[in-house]
Amino acid sequence: MRKPILAGNWKMNKTRDEAIHFLLSVEPNLPKDGVEAVICAPAIILRDLVKRSEVIHVGAQNMNENVSGAYTGEISPVMLKDTKVEYVILGHSERRAYYNETDEKINLKIARALEYELKPIVCVGEVLAERENGTTNKVLKTQIEGAFKDIVISNPDNIVIAYEPVWAIGTGKSATSAQAEDACKYIRELLANLYGAEVSDKIRILYGGSVNTKNIDELMSMPNIDGGLVGGASLKEADFITLCKGCVK
Ligand code: PEP
Repeated sequence: MRKPILAGNWKMNKTRDEAIHFLLSVEPNLPKDGVEAVICAPAIILRDLVKRSEVIHVGAQNMNENVSGAYTGEISPVMLKDTKVEYVILGHSERRAYYNETDEKINLKIARALEYELKPIVCVGEVLAERENGTTNKVLKTQIEGAFKDIVISNPDNIVIAYEPVWAIGTGKSATSAQAEDACKYIRELLANLYGAEVSDKIRILYGGSVNTKNIDELMSMPNIDGGLVGGASLKEADFITLCKGCVK
């Protein structure tokens, strides 16, 4: 019912030439259907990727919540829309940690992304101390309720959540499939409380955190995991293809 997504988060990696090379070698080898392949690339190469991609959907990694103005170094939703970008990652843990992004700020960004018909990939997840002291669900509740405060969802297909435990990102230490499933199931329950079960059942919830070609099949066998948000492994062409194939249920 929910079409899986394999979204690569390239972070601050790849030049334009490297990105085009990736597209040309990966696209012919992707599954024809059953998965939506997305690449969230550095802003400076988004236009090239949008122009050249035939199969892969293109996303940004961040966006300012304002439409225009004196925000040196920032990219606005109008600019992303003008570039024909489809997705935008919001609230990634690196943005929360290094650029002080709060749930309030992420809430404003989600509202603005939807206003400009950009599909947000909203990241939530606990840090190691929170997992260890048993407050994972409390953290997820605060983050989801904060991010979606007063947000109207008119099309649940256009909203994506990524459960990304911070301790699993870039560490090679993935959550177990059971831990990931528990968190994704809980996020779906939180969304059902906010929007009703019909909407919640349609929202794609991805797992992210050291996803690789070895653990993708087990993660994807879980009923509430609808794909992956992948950093490191998405940079490698062969791995990206395998991960996309692994998402086809
Ligand atoms: C990420 O950056 O969102 C991520 C999950 O990274 P990695 O796959 O490298 O852990």
